Amino acid sequence: MIQIFLEEQMFYNEVYDEVKLFFNENEICFTDELPPDEKGGIFLYCKVDSEAAEGPVFRINLEWDNSSYNADIPIESKNIGEMETEKVRELKRQIKRHIYLALVKCTGRELPWGMLTGIRPAKIARELLEEGKTEEEILSTLTRFYMLSEEKARLAYGVALTESKIINRTGKDMISVYIGIPFCPSRCLYCSFTSNPIAKCSHLVSKYLDALKSEINGVQRIIEEKSYKIQSLYIGGGTPTSIDTVSLEGLLEHINKTFNMTWIEEFTLEAGRPDSISKDKLEAAKNYGVNRISINPQTMNNRTLEIIGRSHTAEDIIEAFGLAREAGFDCINMDIIVGLPGENLLMFEHTLKEIGKLNPENLTVHTMAIKRASRLNEHRSEYNLISGEEAEQMVNMAREFANSIGMHPYYLYRQKNILGNLENIGYCKPGYESIYNIQIMEEKQTIIALGAGAVTKVVYPSDNRIERAFNVKNIEEYINRLDEMIERKKALLNP
Ligand code: SF4
Repeated sequence: MIQIFLEEQMFYNEVYDEVKLFFNENEICFTDELPPDEKGGIFLYCKVDSEAAEGPVFRINLEWDNSSYNADIPIESKNIGEMETEKVRELKRQIKRHIYLALVKCTGRELPWGMLTGIRPAKIARELLEEGKTEEEILSTLTRFYMLSEEKARLAYGVALTESKIINRTGKDMISVYIGIPFCPSRCLYCSFTSNPIAKCSHLVSKYLDALKSEINGVQRIIEEKSYKIQSLYIGGGTPTSIDTVSLEGLLEHINKTFNMTWIEEFTLEAGRPDSISKDKLEAAKNYGVNRISINPQTMNNRTLEIIGRSHTAEDIIEAFGLAREAGFDCINMDIIVGLPGENLLMFEHTLKEIGKLNPENLTVHTMAIKRASRLNEHRSEYNLISGEEAEQMVNMAREFANSIGMHPYYLYRQKNILGNLENIGYCKPGYESIYNIQIMEEKQTIIALGAGAVTKVVYPSDNRIERAFNVKNIEEYINRLDEMIERKKALLNP
């Protein structure tokens, strides 16, 4: 149990997120009482001291057993609200850093990603690259200031380098477009997305697709007005290929007829579940310009596939992959998950070996994250999950495997409640980096998103600002309120 006394509520997120790296939610308690509860435990005290001898300071003090950690961060003014934005940002970084150092001292644990709590660990490295810093300087900042392990610092730097090449060759008028199909053959155990079992929602599919086509028309008018060029198009979900062939063909045809496809470098279709893939769907996708698809096994162990609620086998994955190659796809991504319930190192190794035989161009290695809205979270006690250390062994095994088949990491993100505080890594063969994945992760490009639950992100690079427009998640509401969804985007793009 850790008790926290925090005087300045504006630092709540920084303090809470950092403490949460070491403690579970139910072990963290904020208190207004001083001095700390005499029952003992660990006490974190964060407060401005305006009477300090050398001028005002922000004081971090951690006490446990008979030990303590103390740090005074000098501040310009005792009234933090009067400080410049950049100075407050720096203060936030320092607060996080000292809390991390204090908790390392108290718990004896160092974390692979050091003090970093955000979802984009490569972003710091990329910003330092943009400032003209050398590799040595960046690695030093990541390991000494942010306290990443040497290995994670190198990973973040390598990814930032690859991402920069793609971002820097992107014209300012270029955008990406995301189209969401929120249906799946069944719901996976760990899923928290907007996905609806298609058998239960069959009465809504054609109405949904009609609404989506109208939204495509509305968005095309906006794109024309703004003279945007579409660089990448991504049809995701859910599982877009869970709709029937004629419907999928109709949607792809509408996209091709409506959008100007001239500048598109990458057109991805998530064909995530092999039980949704057919030769006809793949051929239709190929004919309408899709040049990247995703076939996501998650695991190649049949028993695990059953446990996680996927109604297909590893053999189905191999067959679907073969069909995709026959249809002419030369850029295929496969997603796998580290730490699926019941899996051990040997089972994970089996998955990697099977993937090696298929030899895809992209491999995305997710680490299991327990999402609030998932069935796994609801029935957590019924499942056997591995420790953070075992998850790390699997992540390392995946890295060695990816390297052995000529892949390098090109994008990277972290999630809340991820096993071992690890990460998700996208690997690829040289030249097969997904533009869309990099753009969505680094938030340097406007992404217009269509469909139920889709989130449009408009990037204003000159003032380092991002604004969002949300589409409603419920399918029926989306259909009924379609005009409003288009208007929200219009309003955001024409402030
Ligand atoms: S395939 Fe993906 S979107 Fe569909 S239920 Fe599984 S995790 Fe969710």
